[in-house]
Amino acid sequence: MRILVSNDDGIASKGLQALVEAVSPLAEVWVVAPETEQSAASHALSLHRPLRVREQRPRWFAVDGTPADCVYMAVHHLMKDELPRLVVSGINHGPNLADDVIYSGTVAAAMEAVLLGLPAVAFSLVSRRQFDFEHAARFAGALAQAALKNPLPPRTLLNVNVPSHGPPEGYQVTRLGRHHYKGEVAELTDPRGRSYYWLGGSGYEHESAPGTDVTAVHDHRRISITPLQLDLTEHQLLDTLRGWNLEGFSQVS
Ligand code: MN
Repeated sequence: MRILVSNDDGIASKGLQALVEAVSPLAEVWVVAPETEQSAASHALSLHRPLRVREQRPRWFAVDGTPADCVYMAVHHLMKDELPRLVVSGINHGPNLADDVIYSGTVAAAMEAVLLGLPAVAFSLVSRRQFDFEHAARFAGALAQAALKNPLPPRTLLNVNVPSHGPPEGYQVTRLGRHHYKGEVAELTDPRGRSYYWLGGSGYEHESAPGTDVTAVHDHRRISITPLQLDLTEHQLLDTLRGWNLEGFSQVS
């Protein structure tokens, strides 16, 4: 039985190594991961340039592409003779809470696996510096074992965030919460006198609400497990939208 490990921080990252060690007792581990850091790459696929794959050692492949490229490459090419029973992504160096899941390459690797019909779990360590993966790795091993025993419904994945700096206070099954980053664009000047820009501010706050991932992790130091589905349809808006009148076009129902 095979498990595929990928990530978005790159094949040399400590978090990936910790995840590999955590799931090694469960199955034959294959690693297909980006050659370089791809955080916030989201679900990009490299369709307009060639990709290189470097086999670093048996069953360890570095791809000069995105996390979604790696899972696509693994499933459609490298592992096609015997597909993995489970795909795990991470352990990310940093949180993937609330809206982070839209930008996350870690989550995208798991999402690509799910799109290709394989169960998947994304793991992230909620820290900005000093990454100690001990507790996150132990939990990843336990959850991977459970995910192998308990089938997940199709088109769903699990998103896990583990608090850092000491042992967590248990785990909680959650929904996505809300948080806000202070949006900023820094404008600087290059040596030739032209402007360049740097996206991203440093301010952060989350909304405290029971049952959410941000509250479980930030307020209670719990590990959060959030099931995510791929269907983004807002069903409650369907009828409202049908009530719109678009001049010159007839609506078909
Ligand atoms: Mn990352």
